[in-house]
Amino acid sequence: MLYEVLDKGFIRLVDSMGDDTSVVQAARVSLGQGSKGEERDQKLINFLMRNNHGTPFEMVSFKFHVKCPIFVMRQWIRHRMGSFNEISGRYVEFEDEFYIPEQWRSQASKNKQGSAGETEPLISWEPIGLSDASPQLNRICNQLYEVYNELLNQGVAREQARMILPVNLYTQFYWQVNARSLMNFLSLRMAPDAQWEIRQYAYRVWDVFRNKMPWTAAAWEVVDD
Ligand SMILES: Cc1cc2nc3c(=O)[nH]c(=O)nc-3n(C[C@H](O)[C@H](O)[C@H](O)COP(=O)(O)OP(=O)(O)OC[C@H]3O[C@@H](n4cnc5c(N)ncnc54)[C@H](O)[C@@H]3O)c2cc1C
Repeated sequence: MLYEVLDKGFIRLVDSMGDDTSVVQAARVSLGQGSKGEERDQKLINFLMRNNHGTPFEMVSFKFHVKCPIFVMRQWIRHRMGSFNEISGRYVEFEDEFYIPEQWRSQASKNKQGSAGETEPLISWEPIGLSDASPQLNRICNQLYEVYNELLNQGVAREQARMILPVNLYTQFYWQVNARSLMNFLSLRMAPDAQWEIRQYAYRVWDVFRNKMPWTAAAWEVVDD
């Protein structure tokens, strides 16, 4: 299943291993036991989640293929509990694919974390009418891409020519992550203070996760709330 994200990006699940029952099996292995029926298994998952017994959730893993702007990947790759392989600009020439936002957001007036009990979103923003900003960004990106091509045509190494390209250029990577780390990613990147662009990807990760692990997802929603 491939989800389109932003103007030219996507995320798709390549592979996964395990599901809710793998969590139950792992948690009960110390007692030499397995499933005790759906109701009790689901209760066990709720218990593990509530009490932060994280390791059984590490038994399930996901592998995603992601295409996103470089500035989104820079945020993504900060999640160290996972494995990444990215396309190499030293080996391949980049396509002329740049993220051009449809809307421009005003600078948030509150950048600091609100205190407990506040209901206001951490970052509020209004779209502002910059009708020519997107075409202008598009123009500049195309010009930069032309220079990139010229440098390559003149024999400049790909690893150096790429320096001219901006961080809204699309890149691609594989991300392998276990369910525990994935939930940490969701907590941080679906939160209202995460950048809007990475949130769009996090929502799709959430869709995949809750489809594969409905009991764990339900338990996580309660605890993360
Ligand atoms: C809204 C937002 C704003 C951010 N702003 C900035 C910023 O301005 N500058 C910046 O540099 N980063 C920023 N970050 C990145 C942030 O600091 C984390 O690097 C990123 O969110 C990954 O989180 P993590 O460490 O929990 O995840 P992972 O790296 O996947 O780690 C998962 C968990 O493993 C444990 N762990 C991992 N490594 C260690 C370790 N070395 N020692 C002990 N425990 C470890 C921790 O419990 C951690 O929560 C921001 C993140 C968000 C969501």
